Amino acid sequence: MPLDVLCVGHASFDLVFTVPHHPAADEKIFADALLACGGGPAANAAVTVARLGLKAGFAGYLATDLYGERHLEELAEAGIDTRSVVRGTSPTPLSAVLVKPDGRRALVNYKGDTRPLPPQAFLAPATSARCILFDGHEPELSKPALAWGQTHGAATVLDAGSLHAGTEWLMFRVGHLVASEKFAAQWLGEDDPEQALTALAERSPCVVITLGERGLIWRRGAESGRLPAFPVEAVDTTGAGDVFHGAYAAGLATGMDWPELLRYASAAGALCCTRLGARPGIPSRAEVEQVLAG
Ligand code: ADP
Repeated sequence: MPLDVLCVGHASFDLVFTVPHHPAADEKIFADALLACGGGPAANAAVTVARLGLKAGFAGYLATDLYGERHLEELAEAGIDTRSVVRGTSPTPLSAVLVKPDGRRALVNYKGDTRPLPPQAFLAPATSARCILFDGHEPELSKPALAWGQTHGAATVLDAGSLHAGTEWLMFRVGHLVASEKFAAQWLGEDDPEQALTALAERSPCVVITLGERGLIWRRGAESGRLPAFPVEAVDTTGAGDVFHGAYAAGLATGMDWPELLRYASAAGALCCTRLGARPGIPSRAEVEQVLAG
């Protein structure tokens, strides 16, 4: 059985403390709640694909440390094929996040000497994949992964969150460029998503720019359009983009029609905003279908 979606990129671990206020120097405070779970755009997207009932794989780095072991278990428990995960002794990127009641966050990230993986680290899955989703955070690993996917005729998607070496190399090599508003502004040099869409579409067969609660705009060849976001009571928008990209790749893998695919990914992204944290916010297929049924 082929994989539906192979997600290539970043995996991390998050410790999210809910606190009454951010502590001052030498102050000790107690957290009201703690959320400890895996994170990273590509890893979150892989979990999304799995929750939507499809077969996902993940290719990226997780250390043999406590957080890497735990995250690997989480991926395996979700039913994700982890045979393309590269292990090592450099630390699993870890974030300690302090969230106040008003949603404002203070964040400490630690990744020690962990660096992007080299191209030869790519462990090709045992089967083919219908779609490959890149988050751009493993620029060198993405090169053989893209070549591998292309030999299988896989659809290719880039989640372009911000402009850096990884997203720049992939952006015009993939079939679907799904960019954030931030990426579009960085690439164009000004904050004008419509103009960025037109310019990007001159060099890409399919471009989507997501605009958070304002939905998205898209262009595919001569066709273009926009889709508003599904109205939800947003509690925490962390991970909405990752879930949108995972559902978008899932839609491609299952051959959804274009308008249906955009609605599917948007519904999944919106649902993620209704719960605290990215991982706990990832919806099931039944939940997405319920939103779509209105
Ligand atoms: P990114 O985190 O990659 O910048 P966005 O914030 O643009 O991603 O969100 C991706 C998609 O998720 C949006 O196009 C929209 O469909 C959905 N989404 C994001 N925020 C909200 C929100 N507050 N309400 C409803 N849907 C949302």
